[in-house]
Amino acid sequence: MLIVFLGPPGAGKGTQSQRLVEYLGIPHLSTGDALRQAIQEGSQLGKSAAGYMESGQLVPDELVVGVVIQRLQQSDCASGCLLDGFPRNLQQAQTLDDHLNRHNRSLDLVLELSVDIQELQQRMLQRAEIESRADDTPEAISKRLQVYRSSTEPLTSYYSQHDILITVDGMGSPDEVSGRIRAIIDRVKNGPSA
Ligand code: ADP
Repeated sequence: MLIVFLGPPGAGKGTQSQRLVEYLGIPHLSTGDALRQAIQEGSQLGKSAAGYMESGQLVPDELVVGVVIQRLQQSDCASGCLLDGFPRNLQQAQTLDDHLNRHNRSLDLVLELSVDIQELQQRMLQRAEIESRADDTPEAISKRLQVYRSSTEPLTSYYSQHDILITVDGMGSPDEVSGRIRAIIDRVKNGPSA
Protein backbone atom coordinates (compact mmCIF):
# COMPACT_ATOMS: atom_id res chain seq x y z
CA MET A 1 0.00 0.00 0.00
CA LEU A 2 1.11 3.51 -0.78
CA ILE A 3 0.04 5.68 2.12
CA VAL A 4 0.36 9.35 3.01
CA PHE A 5 0.27 10.03 6.73
CA LEU A 6 -0.87 13.54 7.67
CA GLY A 7 -0.96 15.03 11.12
CA PRO A 8 0.18 18.09 13.02
CA PRO A 9 3.46 18.12 14.92
CA GLY A 10 2.95 16.40 18.27
CA ALA A 11 0.09 14.21 17.06
CA GLY A 12 2.11 11.03 17.58
CA LYS A 13 2.78 10.42 13.91
CA GLY A 14 6.32 9.17 14.55
CA THR A 15 5.21 6.43 16.96
CA GLN A 16 2.26 5.41 14.84
CA SER A 17 4.35 5.41 11.66
CA GLN A 18 6.78 2.95 13.18
CA ARG A 19 3.97 0.61 14.20
CA LEU A 20 2.25 0.93 10.86
CA VAL A 21 5.30 0.11 8.74
CA GLU A 22 5.94 -2.92 10.93
CA TYR A 23 2.35 -4.03 10.52
CA LEU A 24 2.41 -3.63 6.75
CA GLY A 25 6.05 -4.53 6.09
CA ILE A 26 6.62 -1.45 3.96
CA PRO A 27 9.43 1.16 4.07
CA HIS A 28 9.00 4.31 6.13
CA LEU A 29 9.85 7.50 4.28
CA SER A 30 10.00 10.34 6.79
CA THR A 31 11.19 13.58 5.21
CA GLY A 32 11.90 15.01 8.67
CA ASP A 33 14.19 12.05 9.47
CA ALA A 34 15.83 12.24 6.03
CA LEU A 35 16.55 15.94 6.51
CA ARG A 36 17.86 15.45 10.05
CA GLN A 37 20.15 12.74 8.72
CA ALA A 38 21.39 15.07 5.98
CA ILE A 39 22.19 17.68 8.63
CA GLN A 40 24.11 15.12 10.67
CA GLU A 41 26.09 14.03 7.64
CA GLY A 42 26.89 17.65 6.85
CA SER A 43 25.72 17.28 3.24
CA GLN A 44 24.79 20.21 1.03
CA LEU A 45 21.11 19.33 1.49
CA GLY A 46 21.56 19.36 5.27
CA LYS A 47 23.35 22.71 5.18
CA SER A 48 20.63 24.26 3.08
CA ALA A 49 17.78 22.81 5.17
CA ALA A 50 19.05 23.41 8.72
CA GLY A 51 18.03 27.06 9.13
CA TYR A 52 14.49 26.50 7.92
CA MET A 53 14.03 23.50 10.18
CA GLU A 54 15.37 25.17 13.29
CA SER A 55 12.93 28.02 12.93
CA GLY A 56 10.00 25.70 12.21
CA GLN A 57 9.52 26.76 8.59
CA LEU A 58 9.10 24.42 5.64
CA VAL A 59 12.25 23.62 3.73
CA PRO A 60 11.84 24.80 0.08
CA ASP A 61 9.98 22.28 -2.09
CA GLU A 62 12.85 21.82 -4.55
CA LEU A 63 15.08 20.50 -1.77
CA VAL A 64 12.54 18.01 -0.43
CA VAL A 65 10.84 16.74 -3.57
CA GLY A 66 14.01 15.18 -5.00
CA VAL A 67 14.61 13.19 -1.82
CA VAL A 68 11.11 11.70 -1.94
CA ILE A 69 10.99 10.94 -5.66
CA GLN A 70 14.39 9.23 -5.54
CA ARG A 71 13.37 7.09 -2.59
CA LEU A 72 10.04 6.13 -4.17
CA GLN A 73 11.85 4.79 -7.20
CA GLN A 74 13.91 2.33 -5.20
CA SER A 75 12.83 -1.27 -5.57
CA ASP A 76 11.75 -1.78 -1.95
CA CYS A 77 9.08 0.89 -2.47
CA ALA A 78 7.60 -0.90 -5.47
CA SER A 79 4.82 -2.51 -3.48
CA GLY A 80 4.25 0.41 -1.17
CA CYS A 81 5.63 2.89 1.29
CA LEU A 82 4.52 5.11 4.14
CA LEU A 83 5.06 8.78 3.36
CA ASP A 84 5.44 10.59 6.66
CA GLY A 85 5.80 14.37 6.53
CA PHE A 86 5.35 14.59 2.78
CA PRO A 87 3.50 16.19 1.10
CA ARG A 88 3.26 19.20 3.35
CA ASN A 89 1.70 21.73 1.00
CA LEU A 90 -0.45 21.74 -2.12
CA GLN A 91 2.48 22.13 -4.51
CA GLN A 92 4.17 19.03 -3.06
CA ALA A 93 0.89 17.09 -3.27
CA GLN A 94 0.51 17.97 -6.94
CA THR A 95 4.12 17.10 -7.71
CA LEU A 96 3.63 13.74 -6.00
CA ASP A 97 0.43 13.07 -7.96
CA ASP A 98 2.14 13.97 -11.25
CA HIS A 99 5.03 11.64 -10.47
CA LEU A 100 2.72 8.77 -9.52
CA ASN A 101 0.53 9.32 -12.60
CA ARG A 102 3.56 9.17 -14.85
CA HIS A 103 4.44 5.82 -13.30
CA ASN A 104 0.88 4.47 -13.34
CA ARG A 105 0.72 4.45 -9.60
CA SER A 106 -1.67 6.05 -7.18
CA LEU A 107 -2.07 6.58 -3.47
CA ASP A 108 -4.15 3.92 -1.72
CA LEU A 109 -4.89 5.94 1.38
CA VAL A 110 -4.32 9.29 3.05
CA LEU A 111 -4.54 8.90 6.79
CA GLU A 112 -5.02 12.02 8.87
CA LEU A 113 -4.24 11.81 12.56
CA SER A 114 -6.32 14.32 14.46
CA VAL A 115 -5.53 15.58 17.97
CA ASP A 116 -6.85 18.68 19.69
CA ILE A 117 -4.64 21.69 20.03
CA GLN A 118 -4.15 21.78 23.84
CA GLU A 119 -3.11 18.14 23.79
CA LEU A 120 -0.66 18.84 20.93
CA GLN A 121 1.06 21.67 22.75
CA GLN A 122 1.33 19.62 25.92
CA ARG A 123 2.76 16.59 24.13
CA MET A 124 5.32 18.70 22.28
CA LEU A 125 6.56 20.44 25.39
CA GLN A 126 6.88 17.07 27.12
CA ARG A 127 8.83 15.71 24.18
CA ALA A 128 11.10 18.77 24.23
CA GLU A 129 12.19 17.76 27.74
CA ILE A 130 13.01 14.20 26.72
CA GLU A 131 14.56 14.62 23.27
CA SER A 132 16.61 17.59 22.27
CA ARG A 133 15.41 18.43 18.81
CA ALA A 134 16.63 21.80 17.62
CA ASP A 135 13.07 22.72 16.55
CA ASP A 136 11.40 21.93 19.87
CA THR A 137 11.82 25.44 21.29
CA PRO A 138 8.53 27.20 22.17
CA GLU A 139 8.96 29.59 19.20
CA ALA A 140 9.66 26.82 16.67
CA ILE A 141 6.81 24.70 18.07
CA SER A 142 4.32 27.49 17.62
CA LYS A 143 5.66 28.23 14.11
CA ARG A 144 5.36 24.54 13.15
CA LEU A 145 1.76 24.43 14.34
CA GLN A 146 1.01 27.61 12.41
CA VAL A 147 2.65 26.26 9.24
CA TYR A 148 0.68 23.03 9.62
CA ARG A 149 -2.58 24.95 9.78
CA SER A 150 -1.87 27.24 6.85
CA SER A 151 0.03 24.92 4.47
CA THR A 152 -0.62 21.30 5.34
CA GLU A 153 -4.18 21.19 6.65
CA PRO A 154 -5.60 22.35 3.28
CA LEU A 155 -4.37 19.00 1.92
CA THR A 156 -7.24 17.30 3.73
CA SER A 157 -9.75 18.91 1.38
CA TYR A 158 -7.51 18.18 -1.62
CA TYR A 159 -7.42 14.48 -0.73
CA SER A 160 -11.03 14.21 0.34
CA GLN A 161 -11.96 15.38 -3.17
CA HIS A 162 -9.95 12.40 -4.43
CA ASP A 163 -11.92 10.24 -2.00
CA ILE A 164 -8.90 8.67 -0.32
CA LEU A 165 -8.83 10.55 2.97
CA ILE A 166 -9.65 8.85 6.26
CA THR A 167 -9.33 10.75 9.54
CA VAL A 168 -8.39 8.83 12.65
CA ASP A 169 -8.85 10.02 16.21
CA GLY A 170 -5.36 10.46 17.67
CA MET A 171 -6.51 10.96 21.28
CA GLY A 172 -5.90 8.18 23.79
CA SER A 173 -3.03 5.80 24.40
CA PRO A 174 -0.63 4.79 21.59
CA ASP A 175 -2.19 1.29 21.65
CA GLU A 176 -5.70 2.67 21.29
CA VAL A 177 -4.64 4.82 18.35
CA SER A 178 -2.74 2.02 16.59
CA GLY A 179 -5.76 -0.25 17.06
CA ARG A 180 -7.90 2.30 15.24
CA ILE A 181 -5.32 2.65 12.49
CA ARG A 182 -5.09 -1.12 11.96
CA ALA A 183 -8.86 -1.37 11.69
CA ILE A 184 -8.80 1.28 8.95
CA ILE A 185 -5.92 -0.41 7.12
CA ASP A 186 -7.67 -3.79 7.21
CA ARG A 187 -10.85 -2.24 5.87
CA VAL A 188 -9.05 -0.47 3.01
CA LYS A 189 -7.00 -3.59 2.17
CA ASN A 190 -10.07 -5.78 2.02
CA GLY A 191 -11.91 -3.39 -0.23
CA PRO A 192 -15.23 -1.60 0.10
CA SER A 193 -17.30 -4.76 0.56
CA ALA A 194 -15.54 -5.80 3.77
P1 ADP B 1 7.03 17.64 12.90
O1 ADP B 1 5.91 17.11 12.07
O2 ADP B 1 7.02 17.11 14.31
O3 ADP B 1 7.16 19.13 12.88
P2 ADP B 1 9.06 16.49 11.03
O4 ADP B 1 10.17 15.63 11.51
O5 ADP B 1 8.05 15.86 10.13
O6 ADP B 1 8.41 17.07 12.37
O7 ADP B 1 9.63 17.78 10.27
C1 ADP B 1 10.59 18.61 10.87
C2 ADP B 1 10.94 19.77 9.93
O8 ADP B 1 11.50 19.25 8.72
C3 ADP B 1 9.77 20.63 9.47
O9 ADP B 1 9.43 21.62 10.39
C4 ADP B 1 10.35 21.21 8.17
O10 ADP B 1 11.25 22.25 8.41
C5 ADP B 1 11.14 20.05 7.60
N1 ADP B 1 10.33 19.22 6.67
C6 ADP B 1 9.98 17.92 6.84
N2 ADP B 1 9.25 17.48 5.79
C7 ADP B 1 9.12 18.53 4.95
C8 ADP B 1 8.46 18.73 3.70
N3 ADP B 1 7.75 17.76 3.12
N4 ADP B 1 8.54 19.96 3.11
C9 ADP B 1 9.24 20.95 3.69
N5 ADP B 1 9.87 20.85 4.86
C10 ADP B 1 9.83 19.65 5.50
